[in-house]
Amino acid sequence: MLKGKHILLGVTGSIAAYKAALLVRLLVKEGAEVRVIMTETAKQFITPLTMATLSKNPILVEFFNPENGDWNSHISLGMWSDLYLIAPATANTLAKMATGTADNLLLTTYLSARCPVMAAPAMDVDMYLHPATQANLKTLKERGVTIIEPASGFLASGLDGKGRMEEPEIILSHIKCAMARGGSFSGRKVLITAGPTREEIDPVRYITNHSTGKMAFALAESFAERGAEVHLISGPTSIKCTLPTVTVHNVVSAADMASVTKQLFSEGADVTVLCAAVSDFTPAEKSSVKIKRKGDSLTIDLMPTEDIASSLGGMKKKGEILVGFALETDNELSNAQEKLRKKRLDMIVLNSLQDKGAGFAGDTNKISLIFPQGEVLQYPLKSKTEVAGDIIDNIEKLLECLKG
Ligand code: C5P
Repeated sequence: MLKGKHILLGVTGSIAAYKAALLVRLLVKEGAEVRVIMTETAKQFITPLTMATLSKNPILVEFFNPENGDWNSHISLGMWSDLYLIAPATANTLAKMATGTADNLLLTTYLSARCPVMAAPAMDVDMYLHPATQANLKTLKERGVTIIEPASGFLASGLDGKGRMEEPEIILSHIKCAMARGGSFSGRKVLITAGPTREEIDPVRYITNHSTGKMAFALAESFAERGAEVHLISGPTSIKCTLPTVTVHNVVSAADMASVTKQLFSEGADVTVLCAAVSDFTPAEKSSVKIKRKGDSLTIDLMPTEDIASSLGGMKKKGEILVGFALETDNELSNAQEKLRKKRLDMIVLNSLQDKGAGFAGDTNKISLIFPQGEVLQYPLKSKTEVAGDIIDNIEKLLECLKG
């Protein structure tokens, strides 16, 4: 999604400047074109050679090249940029940005930039908490600068507290979301259920399944990258999502998932994708102590869980899109069609465990999309990110149909 985007990175004099090098690498890997402006002090922390090599562009420091008078125009730099990120941003640079001081190329470019501006502060805890710094940050936020809040932890000074520049991967997530504004899902709210659920038998044991949540997390990221506000209701998984426009609601059991999902759904959602492998049964009674081994067999009474998809199908209002998944092992098409009808879904994504590379855990999936009027679209084996793209393209079409 950052392919061909022009990212201007301003680096100031902080020990966190080394993280700017990692950030440039990540941006270039994403296909962005990166240009770097450094302040004189930043050069003491990281060499222009490192930054130039990683960004594949010469570093800009001065207003002009003293050797040949070549002008580094802050105006054209500002015009070139799709996003201007100042990372790390020292207390000094933030103060100068807030007062409109224009004594280096990084600052003159800030004053003339027409693109969105973001800053990732990096400083000692007391400098960060100082009322002067806080007032400057407030001023900059009011003027539309996105501040990527520093993290708490061990600081170079030896102190512990808030002030560490956020990690490059997280800054990258912020950039991706900022670039997604104006995307096809801008202003849309999307709910996604993810992963398995865990139904407790006793304090030690539980019933679950092989779902890892990979497909749902790929969907969440792809929706966010198209500008959506995403709520991911996730059963226990090891996957993390750091995109600022994805809120993860962690749940454990099918009952927890049902209550959180219904609550969010009742608050309104343009699109809901039920990707979770919800347990269909839960122990009728949970033992409060570990069940002891005795006799030749053990019988556990199970009762059905709430079918979240069916509940939402009943609650659905006009204009809302509800999409389900069907993971089948036999009679795939007819089972999926039956679920689509019964649960009152607008589309169902069918994947079959008969297909190699489809279903749980892997990084690939092979899907068919089924619609209420009987249409079936079949897709070849693809990565889960590509599959997410195909699903979302079709949801976009459904939303278009609702409008028309
Ligand atoms: O379990 P089943 O194959 O019927 O699941 C099909 C769809 O229903 C999936 O989208 C799944 O997330 C959803 N489902 C649910 N609540 C359940 C069981 C399934 O939302 N208790």
